[in-house]
Amino acid sequence: MAQSATFPWKLPAACAAALLAGGLLGWLVHGHLASGVALVAVVEVVLLLTRIRHQTQPMMAIPASASPLQHDRFMTRSRRIASSLRDLRNAASQLPDAVVLLDQEQHVRWFNHAAEDLLGLRRPKDRGVLLQQRLATSDLSDWLRDGTGEPLNDVAAPGHPDSQINVSMLPFGRRQQLLLARDISHLNRLEQVRRDFVANVSHELRTPLTVIHGYLELIDPEDVPELAPVLGEMRAQSKRMGQIVEDLLALSRLETQHQIVDERVPMAPLLATVRKEAEALSQGRHQITLESTAEADLLGSPKDLHSALSNLVSNAVRYTPTGGSIVIRWQRTPDGAVYSVSDTGFGIPASHLARLTERFYRVSSSRSRDSGGTGLGLSIVKHVLNLHQAQLRVESTPGAGSTFACHFGHARVLVPGGRDEG
Ligand code: ADP
Repeated sequence: MAQSATFPWKLPAACAAALLAGGLLGWLVHGHLASGVALVAVVEVVLLLTRIRHQTQPMMAIPASASPLQHDRFMTRSRRIASSLRDLRNAASQLPDAVVLLDQEQHVRWFNHAAEDLLGLRRPKDRGVLLQQRLATSDLSDWLRDGTGEPLNDVAAPGHPDSQINVSMLPFGRRQQLLLARDISHLNRLEQVRRDFVANVSHELRTPLTVIHGYLELIDPEDVPELAPVLGEMRAQSKRMGQIVEDLLALSRLETQHQIVDERVPMAPLLATVRKEAEALSQGRHQITLESTAEADLLGSPKDLHSALSNLVSNAVRYTPTGGSIVIRWQRTPDGAVYSVSDTGFGIPASHLARLTERFYRVSSSRSRDSGGTGLGLSIVKHVLNLHQAQLRVESTPGAGSTFACHFGHARVLVPGGRDEG
């Protein structure tokens, strides 16, 4: 400290003393001051320039042996790099996504304008603060503390509670982290518009379809024998349209529902019903077996679980040729319990498996339509399972058959007389 405080006076004082001495020497030798002062001044400038160059060398990492030309090139390159860095930083600060640069302990090192807007950070006061503390009251707090590295979707933006954001954390540089947050409010709004549209159209179609179907049922084909085949086809199609509308309405309801009213769902009667439905649909064309070893019930929505479990059985019947067999299983596992339906049907090529639960996704459209499918069954299954924090796993071999398994966690499994012991 003392050195840096005195340094600014030492150098000018030494220079002034040297100039005075040079002047005196010039007066003594040549009879006038100027020649001595000029000589000393030139020597001082050369010495100062050498000193400045010497001090900047380590900073710029210019080799001591560098020629003036190399030195100039080096300086030009350094300026270009500095300018590119400035451009990069300016570009990052204008990004529509929030970007926050964090050190190893999650202290804020830098953030852009969108981070001020979405995360509520303020400069300069939030530079250097611990992000987890700064956002302690927000939905991001637990995620920042746990540091799982998994992206967090659809949470309220701390700086804008009406907006929803997706957040992710990326490793960056030397043990630094980059927090990225994207405003997804407009996507959510679009998704809501789509959901409302589908729900409204389905609702509007329901009544006219019921009326048409009702009138078609009233017409006796024997009264109009020449129209009998047409009448049969019209009835089948109006029934199919009615089923599509019902499935779309069921999906809309499941999509907007984020929680269910939990009830004990006794599995023995549910499995018996599902089996009876399968036999009714099969009409003796398949061998249907029920293997229940779990002796456990489920916690959830009876209506939705019935819909999901019977959808899988109905698919097994519809996609298994006559003479095939279907096994319905209910078993305990170390993780909870599994309901599965195995068939010896057509099977599904591996390339289709990932998309099966998409709306209207069909491996074979003609086979689905011929068997009375709407293309919405597995979407409904997926949504019901999501609401029960359960997972659908599919294994299939083309030409050999498929197994659709619903995996329920311990929290959803009830043993006779109480909650699951796990
Ligand atoms: P769909 O009403 O067409 O059956 P789903 O959503 O229930 O609609 O099923 C989607 C597609 O998955 C079906 O069209 C069919 O191609 C295939 N699929 C579903 N279950 C089975 C199964 N058990 N065996 C073979 N294919 C199946």
